[in-house]
Amino acid sequence: MSGADAQRRAGVEGCGVPNVNRERGQRQVFCGLAGIVWLHRKIQDAFFLVVGSRTCAHLLQSAAGVMIFAEPRFATAILQERDLAGLADCNQELDRVVADVLERRPDIKTLFLVGSCPSEVIKLDLGKAAERLSETHQGRVRVLDYSASGLETTFTQGEDVCLTSLTPQLPVLAEGESSLLVVGTLPDVVEDQFARIFRDLGIGPVHFLPPRQSTELPPVGNGSRVLLAQPFLGETARALQKRGATLLDAPYPLGIEGTLGWLKAAADAWGVSEERLREVTAAPIARAERGLARQRELLAGKRITFLPDSQLEIPIARFLARECGMELVEVATPFLDRQLMESELQLLPSDLRLTEGQDVERQLDRVREDRPDLTVCGLGLANPLEAEGLRTKWSIELVFSPIHGFDQAADLAELFARPLVRGALLQV
Ligand code: SF4
Repeated sequence: MSGADAQRRAGVEGCGVPNVNRERGQRQVFCGLAGIVWLHRKIQDAFFLVVGSRTCAHLLQSAAGVMIFAEPRFATAILQERDLAGLADCNQELDRVVADVLERRPDIKTLFLVGSCPSEVIKLDLGKAAERLSETHQGRVRVLDYSASGLETTFTQGEDVCLTSLTPQLPVLAEGESSLLVVGTLPDVVEDQFARIFRDLGIGPVHFLPPRQSTELPPVGNGSRVLLAQPFLGETARALQKRGATLLDAPYPLGIEGTLGWLKAAADAWGVSEERLREVTAAPIARAERGLARQRELLAGKRITFLPDSQLEIPIARFLARECGMELVEVATPFLDRQLMESELQLLPSDLRLTEGQDVERQLDRVREDRPDLTVCGLGLANPLEAEGLRTKWSIELVFSPIHGFDQAADLAELFARPLVRGALLQV
C-alpha cells in the first residue's frame, strides 16, 4: 500500500470533528467583484456590467489584467457626479450604457448588472432595472442582477450570488427524469475530464452550472442530484434545493481522496458498484499518485497556516495534511457552512485549530508566533508577511488555477511546494 493509500485509509476511518473558534473583527479580503474574472471566462456569451465607482473599475482591471489574458466581457458603468443629481439620471445612464454594450457586442446573450458598495448604487434598484432592460431588449438578451458589494460578499461569494441569480432561469427537468448537476465553475479541460469519468461510470445525463453558453442552461427539478464542485456555493445549493434538487453529501474533488469521495457520492446515487468505480478510476489515480510522490517529498512535515479568504481552505487543508503529509497549524475560513462542509470536517484532525471569521490583527499575531513554513492568505497580507521572512501563498491563485480532479492533484500540491522551494533557494 502506498503512503497516500495508507493516509487515505487512515482518514476514511475518521478523526472526529474539530471544535470551531469564532472570531469577529476587521477583515481583509477581496469583494465579490473578483468572481467576475473567472465567471466571464466560463460563460462565454455573458457580459458583466459592474454598476460602481472608479475603485470597482480599478479592482477589476488590476485583478483581471494581472491574472488573465482575454477579450474582456466586463465593464464598469461608473456613476459620475452628475448622476448623483437624481436616480432618474442614474437609470437613464444605465440604459444608455447597456444599449451601447449590446450594440457593440451582438454575441452577448446574458447581461449581468452587478451591484457594488457606493451608496448611490445601493439606492438604485438593480432588480427593477434588470426587469426594465429585459423588457426593452426582449428576445435579444436576458438581463439579470446581483450584488457583489464588499459589504455583503467576499471574493468567492461573487460566484455564489451570480449562480443564485441564474437559478430561477433554469428550465424545469421533466417529472420522472433524473440528471446529475455539477455546480461550480471548473476550467473546461477539467469539466471534460469529469464528463468522461461520469460517462464511463454510466452516470448521466450530466449538466454543469455555470454552463459554457448562457443559452444552454441546465434543467433542474425533483430528479436532479447536485454535486458541488466548489465549497462556497451555499446559497446556490439552497436555491436548487428549493427547486426540488437533492444535494449529494460529498467531500470536494480536490486531491485523490476528495475526488474519489466526490465521484463515489454520484456512483452511490446511480447504483454504480464499488468495483466499477475502482476500474474506472484506477488509471487516473495511479497517474495522480505518481505525480504527487515528488511533491509529497517537498511538503511532508512542513507546517502550514490558512488565513480566511477563499472558503477553499478546509478541503485544501485536508488534502495537504492527508495526501501530502503537511502539518496544519491553523485553518481559518471566512464562513463555515456545516451543511456543505460535513464530509470534509470528518476528515480533519480532531485537535485542529479551526477558526471561522477574521480578526486580522489577532490572526497575524498568531502567525508571527507560530512561524509556519507557509501561510496561505490574500494578496494584501502576503507582502507584509514576506517582509517579516514568512513564506506565503496567494489564495486567489487557487481559483484561477485548474486544481480539481485526479489529473490536477499534483499541480495543486505544486502550488504549495513552489514557494517553499523558492524560499529554500533564497536562503541558500
Ligand atoms: Fe467596489 Fe465595494 Fe468592491 Fe470596493 S469593495 S471594489 S467599492 S464593490
